[in-house]
Amino acid sequence: MKSKHGLKVLASGRELLMRIRNLVNGSIEVQCQLEFAQEIALENINRGKSFAMVIIILEMALFLANLYFSHFSHKTVSMQHGFQNSVYGLMYGITIVVTCIYLYLSSCLKKRAQMGQIDLPYIEKLMVSYLTFIMTWSAVITLFDQRLYGSISAYLVALILGSIIFYVNSRMLIIPYLISLSILMIGLPFYQPSTAILIGHYVNIGILLILSWVMAKTLYENYVRDFASRWEIKSKNDLLNTTNRQLSDEVILRKTIQEELEKANQELKKLTLIDDLTGIPNRRNLEDYLNREWNRAIREGNSISILMIDIDYFKAFNDNYGHLSGDDCLIKVAQTIKSHCRRSSDFVARLGGEEFLFIAINMDEEGTRSLADNIRNSIQNINILHEYSEAAPYLTVSIGITMVRPSTNDKPGPSINKADRALYTAKLAGRNRVASSI
Ligand code: GH3
Ligand code: MG
Ligand code: MG
Repeated sequence: MKSKHGLKVLASGRELLMRIRNLVNGSIEVQCQLEFAQEIALENINRGKSFAMVIIILEMALFLANLYFSHFSHKTVSMQHGFQNSVYGLMYGITIVVTCIYLYLSSCLKKRAQMGQIDLPYIEKLMVSYLTFIMTWSAVITLFDQRLYGSISAYLVALILGSIIFYVNSRMLIIPYLISLSILMIGLPFYQPSTAILIGHYVNIGILLILSWVMAKTLYENYVRDFASRWEIKSKNDLLNTTNRQLSDEVILRKTIQEELEKANQELKKLTLIDDLTGIPNRRNLEDYLNREWNRAIREGNSISILMIDIDYFKAFNDNYGHLSGDDCLIKVAQTIKSHCRRSSDFVARLGGEEFLFIAINMDEEGTRSLADNIRNSIQNINILHEYSEAAPYLTVSIGITMVRPSTNDKPGPSINKADRALYTAKLAGRNRVASSI
């Protein structure tokens, strides 16, 4: 079990390292590399600025201390010590000046970066140059130190600091390491007379060099690893957001389509329930309405008045005035009948051909008769010329009426037939009249 777990850890570690190597070597997306380079450059600018401030304060203190001591003791010290004091003073002065320049250039680059102009190569060059300067400077100071007290601590401190101040890859450390080490290694035998101390120095420098290099490498790799996981989280988040957005777009689209479909369905339903020619409800619509009202009438004890209306001698009208005039006539008749719908429960439909049905709920007998008369009159009053009618010189209708108060198990069919029979009676009696079978 244990070894399996170990193998797993090793595999994920290796995978992570591969990812980092890919990241560093450039086989990962360009966008990621660019963002990494920009982030690390800004981080290094900030770290470098803090470091430079510390250096300036430290070197100022050393410079002033050196100035004070060289004045305080210039009568008692030898020529050689006097010379060395001025060399140290000069070295401190140079560091302050160079660090100030570095600080100024860093600030300029940072400002540009804040405005969106990140000069990556300049930032990198400035950083390596400053590191090279600090390490070379400490190598030179260390050489001078050999004459005074034989210590190499100045260089060792610079070596450690130089390796941990910036996040740099090992390749970039080669230049500062190489230049400063060459000066120190070559110069040491000239400044340190004791062979034993010299060997000790070389050993110490060697050990510290390896340690510093490992430290710098670990720091950098940790940073890359951290960035890689942050990047992965960000990418996953982005992907999630995009998917979410797509999903919500799709939901909206589906909703719109569904709404349109419902609208189209309603339109279609309306179309199937409306008579094409006259624009009033058709037979199917009438059946729906009648079934609904019939059941309600059974429940509530309502009465239903049925008026069956038929145009007189319409075939003759069509034959003589043409089908188009006939159509026009049907529209006018339909609209006129419709204009008698006064209550919300009043309903008129075209049964087919030149036949119409009017339904009224809870209308008494007298009301039903007068409604039929009114309809007949208003059709007559449209005054459509009909020279071929035997009933009148204008277009007329005959109406058969009936009334029913349905009870359970009653069906609408027989009542419709009753109205139809009344209509037949009206036709037989000479047309242009109302006949009742109430
Ligand atoms: P009656 O007085 O006995 O009702 O006689 P009628 O001629 O009106 O009745 P009939 O049933 O003989 O003729 C009905 C005519 O209605 C036949 C047809 O020409 C006409 N018609 C039916 N539907 C339409 C239509 O949609 N448009 C037109 N223009 N005419 C139609
Ligand atoms: Mg008819
Ligand atoms: Mg007719």
